[in-house]
Parts: sequence; structure tokens; C-alpha cells
Amino acid sequence: MNSGSIKRLLSPYTGFIPVEKLIASSGHRFVLPFWHAVSDVPLPHLSQLYRVPTVSEFERNLVFLLKNYKPASVDDVFRLADTNGKSEQNLFFPSFDDGLAECYHVIAPLLKRKGIQAAFFINPAFVGNKMLFHRLKSSLLLNSITQIKPSGIKSAEQLLQQKFPNKSIVQFLRQAAFTDHLLLDQLAEIFGLDFELFLKQKQPYMNLQQIKELQKDGFLIGAHGMDHREFFLSSEDEIMEQISASMEFLIWEINPPVNAFAFPFTDFKVSNSIFEKANTDRLWDLSFGTAGIKDETVKNHLQRIPMESGVNNDGKKVIRTEYFWYYLKSVFGKNKVHR
Ligand SMILES: [Zn+2]
Repeated sequence: MNSGSIKRLLSPYTGFIPVEKLIASSGHRFVLPFWHAVSDVPLPHLSQLYRVPTVSEFERNLVFLLKNYKPASVDDVFRLADTNGKSEQNLFFPSFDDGLAECYHVIAPLLKRKGIQAAFFINPAFVGNKMLFHRLKSSLLLNSITQIKPSGIKSAEQLLQQKFPNKSIVQFLRQAAFTDHLLLDQLAEIFGLDFELFLKQKQPYMNLQQIKELQKDGFLIGAHGMDHREFFLSSEDEIMEQISASMEFLIWEINPPVNAFAFPFTDFKVSNSIFEKANTDRLWDLSFGTAGIKDETVKNHLQRIPMESGVNNDGKKVIRTEYFWYYLKSVFGKNKVHR
């Protein structure tokens, strides 16, 4: 059983402890929740990957956060690196990954109205809708599978058998990685999907102008790897190239006040030497992971909380469960990230 399933099992049993108690006993008064998009209209390119909160669900999350924490500034986050992720005050700082169009059209105006600062982590290869992230391709394919004629399914299965003889189409699409780009494109052809047309018509990502506007509005723009490939399937050289090229783009095009990098997918299995190299070469001021509430060993690396893991996007439950899980692991000395 992975930690996600255990957290889901724990979630209904955390309600009896007041949030303030959970916050105080953990010592983690600064939380960094993150999402990808917020939308009232269905987004087929995301719907198979995580549950996108509606505007009212997202607002409910903000109400909970504002009740228990103060909105942090970029400076507060920067200072957090010097205090090992610990803060005297209850603070929260939201962030949003992958540079999706909803960040500009829905999320930023909402946060601005409420006076909340945030970070947006972008993948340069996707900016301006130049390329579609392979996981988004998977989601589009999964959504169209029920409309494909049996003859089409047969051709797709035959194609898949050549590379993955033991996987069904759905299994493959649920796990498809960066290295499967070509196969995803070939399946799209069989399914009658046109990813280029989708990018052109739907504009799922922000363009550079919109990103620059967000920065003008006081939001922090950070990098998230060039093309969101899986670091756990990449060599160290490849990882370093992804980090330095995306940070170079960020500094050249955006020039943010703080240079921040959020690891794509996860920082799990990213070795210490990557952190050492990135810090020695001063590639970033701050880096971010997605391990929830955890104690970190790398000083300027901060862990964020994945908020889309909760049923009905109940942020209150997600955060409660994170604290509860942190507390349980601390009993066994497992609340620290080891690399
Ligand atoms: Zn991402």
C-alpha cells in the first residue's frame, strides 16, 4: 500500500483533533499547498490525471486556509529556507504547476481579489502552446477511448503489443511516460485525435505575455523542468540539463526576484548530488518538492502539499490528513526525507 492510499484511509478519522492542535504539535506552521488548475468547465486534458477543483471548491479551500493561516509573501517563503521550513507564525503560500491557461484566467484574478500571493511553475517547452505534455496526451486519449470503433481498438492493441506485450491500452495510458511520446502520437492518429489542432484551438497553456503579466501583478514565476519528463527515468546529466535549461529560460525571459524551481512529478529518488550541483552552480535560490508535510535535510528545499488528492477537493481534509500522517510517522522516526 502506498502512502497516498494510507492517507485516503486515514482521512475520515482526523476530524476529531482541532486543526490548531495539529499545527502546533507538528511544528510546521508554514504550509505550501499546490494545485494545477481551477475550472467550472470540464477539462478533458486534465480530467484523467487529477480532479480539477471548481471555483467554489477552490474558494472553500482558501476560506479554510485564511481561517487558520495568514497569506505569506514571496519574502516569507525565501526566509523559510533559512529556518529549515519552520515558522513562528501560521502562514500559507499556494503554488500552481505546469503553466496552464486557468492560472491566468481563473486563479490569478481570484487570488488578487483576496490579496494572496502565489507561485506559478512553468515548463518552457509548453509556454505559448508549442508542445503538449505527455500526461495530457494520455488524458485526452483515455477520454476518447469509449468512442473508438472495435476496428480502431484492434489496431491500437496491435501497435501497443510491439512495445508492451502485456499491457492493455488503458494500463499503458495510465502509466505512459515521456519516453512514450511517439507511441502516444501514433495512438492519437488511430483514435482520430489531433494534438496540434487541440493546442491551437484550446490554448491549454499560458503564453509568455500572460506569464509576464502575472509577474507584474506580484506573483512569483518559477521553473518546472523543460518538458516535464520523469526525473526518476532520467540520467543525472539529463536531469541537470532539464534544470539548467528551464532556469536559463526563466531568468532570461522573466527575471524573477527569487529563482525558484519545482521538481516535475516528484523529487523522490532525486539524489543528493543533484541538489549539491544545483546549489554549487547557484542554479536556484529555492527548490520545491511534493512530499507533503515532512522535515527536509536539504536547507533551501521546501516540501509542498498536493491538494488534488482529496475527495471532493476538500482542502481542509487534505491538510488535516497531512498533519495526522506526519504525526504518525514521527512516532516511527519516518517524518524526515532521506536522500
Ligand atoms: Zn507538474
